[in-house]
Amino acid sequence: MSTRADCIFCKIVRGEAPSHRICEDERTIAFMDIFPVTDGHALVVTKDHFENLFEADEDALAAIARTSHRVAAAIRSELAPDGLMVFQLNGRAAGQTVFHYHMHLMPRASGEALALHTRVPGTPARLAEIASRLARALARVTAPPPTR
Ligand code: AMP
Ligand code: ZN
Repeated sequence: MSTRADCIFCKIVRGEAPSHRICEDERTIAFMDIFPVTDGHALVVTKDHFENLFEADEDALAAIARTSHRVAAAIRSELAPDGLMVFQLNGRAAGQTVFHYHMHLMPRASGEALALHTRVPGTPARLAEIASRLARALARVTAPPPTR
């Protein structure tokens, strides 16, 4: 695993900074955005440090797509939003603020104003609650169908 000492997402990957974790596999980790634009706003992050899409290798991109797909299913199953916005920003000009490749999964309600960021932090208790609900939902949505 290749990480950077001073990168906040690398610190989360190494367990040196706290996060409200949803799931983790060999190449990715998913946790709640601490400044959630909407309830359930989650991030899927590579374990290796890549600054952006241009630096990430194809396996890392595929791993992010797989985890995003699973977490999206958990969000739909648990939170039933009207829609789900999935986006990823590259470079300051595109609005990127943390320079470690990651995908945003943002549940959306009909008619809600579009925003990419907020400065209002989430309530720790609410972030923890949603993370654990999504972790449980993940096990449900990815469980094999019951056999008779
Ligand atoms: P971006 O602007 O696409 O680079 O997104 C970075 C996101 O990371 C923003 O939505 C921030 O709210 C979020 N963020 C920053 N620091 C943390 C952290 N320590 N834990 C969770 N999310 C964070
Ligand atoms: Zn990093």
